[in-house]
Amino acid sequence: MTSKNLGLSPELYDYFQGISLREPEILRQLRLETLTYPMHQMQIAPEQGQFMAFLVKLIGAKKILEIGVFTGYSSLAMALALPSDGQLIACDQDPNSTTIAQRYWTLAGVQDQIQLYLNPAITTLDRLLENGESQSFDLVFIDADKRNYDRYYELSLQLVRSGGLILIDNVLWDGKVADQSVEDPQTQAIRDLNQKLLQDDRIDLSLLPLADGLTLARKR
Ligand code: SAH
Ligand code: CA
Repeated sequence: MTSKNLGLSPELYDYFQGISLREPEILRQLRLETLTYPMHQMQIAPEQGQFMAFLVKLIGAKKILEIGVFTGYSSLAMALALPSDGQLIACDQDPNSTTIAQRYWTLAGVQDQIQLYLNPAITTLDRLLENGESQSFDLVFIDADKRNYDRYYELSLQLVRSGGLILIDNVLWDGKVADQSVEDPQTQAIRDLNQKLLQDDRIDLSLLPLADGLTLARKR
């Protein structure tokens, strides 16, 4: 179903999805529509959406920040798990893919709970801090341009509350992080952040080899 499912044979992956995936119909439709667009592989796997929705409920998140929206699968998966007074701040700079996202947020009835900021994400995060929103987020999902991952992480640490979660996507980067012959700036940025997090005593750390690798950092 998706290309990135680390280490599972196709048969076991099919079984895994068949026995555990509970994808809401609206998300299934969005996933299938996104498949017709270029760059559709940027979308998270459905089991990852289900896991992130699970985390939203587990920690009782009410205020979420997403950095990197694309056509809206991950934002919608999390928004559907929010209570009715919960909100999600969504950052992207592409008006085209986010038009699709907005259409699906409306179809799902969560459009009033999601605010989209179309700017370079660093600009938006700086503004949130200027507006006094530091330590106010329960959960942050980082999934935009990889070269800025460290800046997103540092800003997210300021925006998230103590005990809150920062999720970082694509941290295993299709295996390229482990191949020392790969030296492009994106791979290097992910590698550097992974290494930094291992030693970072501001957080509790868990890296899940789910989909393309998902880091969970809990702010201490
Ligand atoms: N979370 C999405 C996928 C995000 S793909 C999902 O699971 O479906 C990465 C997104 O980051 C793209 O939509 C791209 O437009 C956005 N992006 C890239 N660089 C950015 C930047 N500097 N500021 C804001 N958004 C950016
Ligand atoms: Ca991603």
